[in-house]
Amino acid sequence: MRKIYLDHTATTPLDPRVLDAMVPYFGGIFGNASSIHAFGREAKQALEQARGVIADLIGAEPGEIFFTSGGTEADNFAIAGVAATSHGDRRGVVSSRAEHHAVLDTCEHSALQGIPVALLPVNASGSVDTEVLRGALGSGVQLVSLMHANNEVGTISPIAAYADLTHAAGAIFHTDAVQSAGKIPLNVRDLGVDLMTLSAHKMYGPKGIGALYIRRGTAIEPLLHGGGQERGRRPGTENVALAIGFAEAFRIATGEMEQESKRLEGLRDVLEAQLRAAFSALIVNGDPHARLPHILNISFDAARQPMEGDMLIVNMDLRGIAVTSGSACTSGSMQPSHVLLAMGRDPSTAKATIRFSFGKSNSEEDIGQVADALKEIVSRSMIR
Ligand code: PLP
Repeated sequence: MRKIYLDHTATTPLDPRVLDAMVPYFGGIFGNASSIHAFGREAKQALEQARGVIADLIGAEPGEIFFTSGGTEADNFAIAGVAATSHGDRRGVVSSRAEHHAVLDTCEHSALQGIPVALLPVNASGSVDTEVLRGALGSGVQLVSLMHANNEVGTISPIAAYADLTHAAGAIFHTDAVQSAGKIPLNVRDLGVDLMTLSAHKMYGPKGIGALYIRRGTAIEPLLHGGGQERGRRPGTENVALAIGFAEAFRIATGEMEQESKRLEGLRDVLEAQLRAAFSALIVNGDPHARLPHILNISFDAARQPMEGDMLIVNMDLRGIAVTSGSACTSGSMQPSHVLLAMGRDPSTAKATIRFSFGKSNSEEDIGQVADALKEIVSRSMIR
């Protein structure tokens, strides 16, 4: 059975060129980047080179890039790190109901610590209307955290407009750009953000490394305490091999972005057209005019064609096709996706969802196989 991987928003395989770039740092070049001898200096030089590449790719200065263990840590660092500097009445955090759990759960934790947190509603496309954000920006707000592109439905949000509104209200703006990095242009100055989260493993880089961009002058406290690494903001001996891999993956993804994003968008649109033609109850989730090129998120309208989402995913898997529903599995039962619920989908429709996310391994050959498999699964489930 030919396996088809369509879950590139969950993670991507390591690009062989990235592995090649990292290998020397798992072997001969092993020094601690904080050591002052030649071994340490060699590691430090590589680390700073990686930092410089990443900074360049997003229009930042090298001193504004802080390596973390991934996107989750960078989101935690942004929200909890800014909250730790709060004083007086300006302590509030504003975010949205459609954020990744790395942001949502950190907001929840902050709320438990007594920080006022407001989770804004999103529109039917999955982004926050600018007027809704404007209405939430009182003088008590310290930080706004809104994602660049949604990991479930792919909707791209108007980050520059959010950042402008946030700054006009005297607050700090953070965006999670884990899914948009390497897929669409990303420049911190154009977006006007103060903090931005990145993760390497969504762009054919290694797992376990990411970064937080911190605009020079932004007040933020470290989450961890220990050595003086990352200019005291993220202590712990740096993983030079992963930093090199991250930089190389991001460099390759950005260089190939224009061509590859166009190709993925083409594949996505062909599958979307085939599924629309096959299923009258099909709903395509996300903003049709501002969506990441590689994500197709569909639901079956429960009022017209009731369908079990986990049954769909399991049966696709049995046919060698890896997709996901975006739903969380809690206590053995599938919970509808919080993103789709926030977008106004009813729970039964939200459960009957499949997210296809395309990547380098996919070709046109896959599309027919995927569409045929889904048609067969759906027709079988209707006979029963
Ligand atoms: N933010 C978004 C939007 C994501 O999609 C993910 C991963 O799924 C993360 C954060 C977490 O990143 P990491 O897996 O590097 O911790």
